Amino acid sequence: MNTDMNRCDTSPLLGYQEALEQLTRSVGARGGMVEKPLLQALGAVLAESIESQIDVPGCAMSAMDGYAVNTADLGAQGTTTLPLSQRIAAGSVAQPLAPGTAARIFTGAPVPPGADAVIMQEQVQQQAGSISFESRPANGNNIRPAGNDIRRGTTILSKGCRLRAQDIGLAASIGLQSLPVFAPLKVGIFFTGDELVEPGEKLAPGKIYDSNRYTLCGLLEAMGCEIVDLGLVGDTLEATREAMSGAATQADLVVTTGGVSVGEEDHVRIAIEQLGELRLWRLGIKPGKPLAYGQINDTAFMGLPGNPVPVFATFCLFVCPVIQIMQGRQWRKPIALQVTADFDWPKPDSRREFLRARLTTDAGQQTRVQIYPNQDSGVLTSTVWADGFVEIAENQTVRAGDSVNYLPFAQFLD
Ligand code: AMP
Ligand code: MG
Repeated sequence: MNTDMNRCDTSPLLGYQEALEQLTRSVGARGGMVEKPLLQALGAVLAESIESQIDVPGCAMSAMDGYAVNTADLGAQGTTTLPLSQRIAAGSVAQPLAPGTAARIFTGAPVPPGADAVIMQEQVQQQAGSISFESRPANGNNIRPAGNDIRRGTTILSKGCRLRAQDIGLAASIGLQSLPVFAPLKVGIFFTGDELVEPGEKLAPGKIYDSNRYTLCGLLEAMGCEIVDLGLVGDTLEATREAMSGAATQADLVVTTGGVSVGEEDHVRIAIEQLGELRLWRLGIKPGKPLAYGQINDTAFMGLPGNPVPVFATFCLFVCPVIQIMQGRQWRKPIALQVTADFDWPKPDSRREFLRARLTTDAGQQTRVQIYPNQDSGVLTSTVWADGFVEIAENQTVRAGDSVNYLPFAQFLD
């Protein structure tokens, strides 16, 4: 580990791809299983695949308000008149269709045995006790067969998916009341820096408001983590060590900001080295250069830079995948969209850049991507203005009209 440290300032920059691969290989799923009532399961990670024990729908159902018929009763052409033999509303039980008759039927009602099509009510003239129509429905028209949505025995939800509203709706549609999910991942956080004060306090000279805590708490909450928040920690080795070991005993993962550079006031790396194992990387990305990761006993550790924009960017790029894997999810690398640049980026950089960007449509309704005019690492406003990153490969330049990679924030944080 020390070799990594000593090389830190002179070692070649570690590429985005390589760093991501190393990180994602180094962590695994955590957490025991708990059973959650459906209405509390939103955002949780499914711990077991779910197989349906029933067909949905359980029997053939009408897809329309209309009339159920047997197509064998219809003549080849001209007007057919059939007496009405029953009325079937949703939720009721149908009798077999008497031969040579039609049944009044409503959307979601069971199709009577012996009927094989439903004629829409708009295509029918109704008289007292009978109907007439010209239409010749084909066998199966306007009928949803049993198992049309879900067949008994099929897997409807896969282990490792993060439950969305529609997933929970699908579980309800097969009659489940609860789902087996992983207990939420516990993430311990603290924020280093003697210059930091909390919002609401007076801003003395030389101080700044701590924004990282608020960004990070929001990000972690959006990802369904349980947060153990140790707040602000001063720039001493003792305070940093104490916060670090406290966080590590309570959490599955510890994430900090600041103090990972190699300055005299940067104590995070020394604290972690004393308590566990550390790797400190100089990443070949912009924003975000120093990134620390390591281990204290069974707890994973990630030390982000202090500047707010690199915090947001490195969280998206590196912390999100780690969290997703630890949560037991099926992590996959975000898929970049190819979008036409609405900007010039004339200066190549040896680091891979993640520009704060957003989609727009031009006068011809073509999708284009714009970047925030000030891409400085200290400009947190850029993350608010933007919806995603434009990824610019090492040593690349861009001219308006070129196709570029666009990575929506939502892809990382989902
Ligand atoms: P550091 O990595 O500790 O040297 O911090 C780099 C820069 O980020 C400094 O300008 C810090 O003042 C700033 N910074 C560190 N922590 C925070 C925070 N929690 N909120 C806002 N800015 C911060
Ligand atoms: Mg600092």
